[in-house]
Amino acid sequence: MSEPKLDITIDVSRSRPWKGIVWHHSATPDGMTKDWDAIRKFHTSYRVDFQIVTEAEYRRRLAAGAGKSFQTPWKDIGYHGGTEFVNGQVVFSWGRALSEIGAHAGVKGASNLYNTDYLGLCAIGDFDKAPPKPEHWEFNLRFTRAFMDAFRIPAGHVIGHREVFDRLGVPRQKSCPGQSWDMALFRSEL
Ligand SMILES: [Zn+2]
Repeated sequence: MSEPKLDITIDVSRSRPWKGIVWHHSATPDGMTKDWDAIRKFHTSYRVDFQIVTEAEYRRRLAAGAGKSFQTPWKDIGYHGGTEFVNGQVVFSWGRALSEIGAHAGVKGASNLYNTDYLGLCAIGDFDKAPPKPEHWEFNLRFTRAFMDAFRIPAGHVIGHREVFDRLGVPRQKSCPGQSWDMALFRSEL
């Protein structure tokens, strides 16, 4: 089996001094085609209860209190990069610039450290249901190592989104990047 291609150039001089990495999953099935652009569209749209709505609908529901979660468009996708299968091949996509703080690990009422100091990477798929396929797992390891090398990030600073809550000392609000993604195993293989 040939290794999936990972041809990545990281310009440290035009990046924030990243200290760690937070992995996420999309919690959606990975389609045949490129799903990354759909996530970008989602993050840059008006959202009520995690559904895209028009601006008019957003304003109407906000005024009526019809909804629990209200989000205005972010300036870009919340993650710095991600991985997915496209036509049977694992590929990566760039997200927001490495000079920009992320929008992936915020916790209400707690430190924003994991957005300001940790890169946000997202693997497309629902890893609550099953772990990443071996090819995807291996690619994610190599993708992670590329950032570890560039920013001298230790394996102990590569965490799953759910571990952000642990480190902030608050109850876990998410299983991200999925119950079946063993972060201790992932770190041990880096
Ligand atoms: Zn997450």
